[in-house]
Amino acid sequence: MSASPAPRVYALLGDPVEHSLSPALQNAAFRHAGVDAVYVTRRADAEGVAVLMRALGRAGGGGNVTVPFKTLAAAALDRAAPAVTATGACNTFWWADGALCGDNTDVAGFLAAVRAVIADLADSRVLVLGAGGAARAVVYALLAEGAAEVQVANRTPARAEALARRLHEAAGCPPERVRPISLAEAAAGEDLDLVVNATSLGLRPGDPLPMEPRPGAHRALFDLVYRRGGTAWTRAGTAAAIPAVEGTEMLVQQGAAAFRCWTGLAAPLEVMRAALEGAAPTV
Ligand code: NAP
Repeated sequence: MSASPAPRVYALLGDPVEHSLSPALQNAAFRHAGVDAVYVTRRADAEGVAVLMRALGRAGGGGNVTVPFKTLAAAALDRAAPAVTATGACNTFWWADGALCGDNTDVAGFLAAVRAVIADLADSRVLVLGAGGAARAVVYALLAEGAAEVQVANRTPARAEALARRLHEAAGCPPERVRPISLAEAAAGEDLDLVVNATSLGLRPGDPLPMEPRPGAHRALFDLVYRRGGTAWTRAGTAAAIPAVEGTEMLVQQGAAAFRCWTGLAAPLEVMRAALEGAAPTV
């Protein structure tokens, strides 16, 4: 009798990783699809990330990378998807044809989830709050979908300026399509098809709203922070009759895109959503 091969190992590398919902999401998907694999979390440090990525990949698995190592992960790849090259961040890696490959599935995850509040991003005017790793993925996605103008406002203005510079160059678009603005300008902005919260505001109880929702000025809100039942910001938007969604569906969709990279299979979205039902934080 031949021994069955060991399951493939996929790991989330970051610091911290203990409270991640990705193991619930991906292990449910592996089980449902009959993939002999296991998804674990592994706290990493800057020295170890690239080594772990390569070891997991060579062993036939792969994984995800989260804060604060997405930039280091991008630099470790042999083959980077266009979303990685443009954003300078990698959140998903695997091994193919003797090479360490990577993608940034926050881009696909955002685009799939934002459809709930805006059907067509072409020619839209969008304000993005925040200038960290997730904001880069969002701005790249918006430019790729043909947004007419993306404004970026951040607590640290220099980061918004750097993001705008990087993304207009990477997307090969005119500088006026991605514009750093001050928080004061952002708060007074009119005629916005979409406002995206890509800051960490809303993660902790008692956080202030990233911005006061303004009916008439804001047509839709999308919060990357995930809370079943809505974040304080999306609940304020809904109360003001502005369509608003929180980030759980983006979490599912970025995980689904990663699952496709690893297995070549369509992701079982309903199974993944159900796995989060019991695991995701509530209001
Ligand atoms: P990050 O790189 O650490 O960036 C954090 C951003 O939040 C920066 O722009 C930072 O501004 C801003 N910020 C932090 N504290 C703030 C405060 N007190 N007031 C105003 N701004 C503040 O993190 P990230 O990876 O971009 O993640 C951002 C958020 O998106 C997190 O909540 C994360 O959980 C969420 N996310 C969700 C998904 C999903 O699938 N739903 C995917 C990725 C990320 P400074 O530059 O001034 O520090």
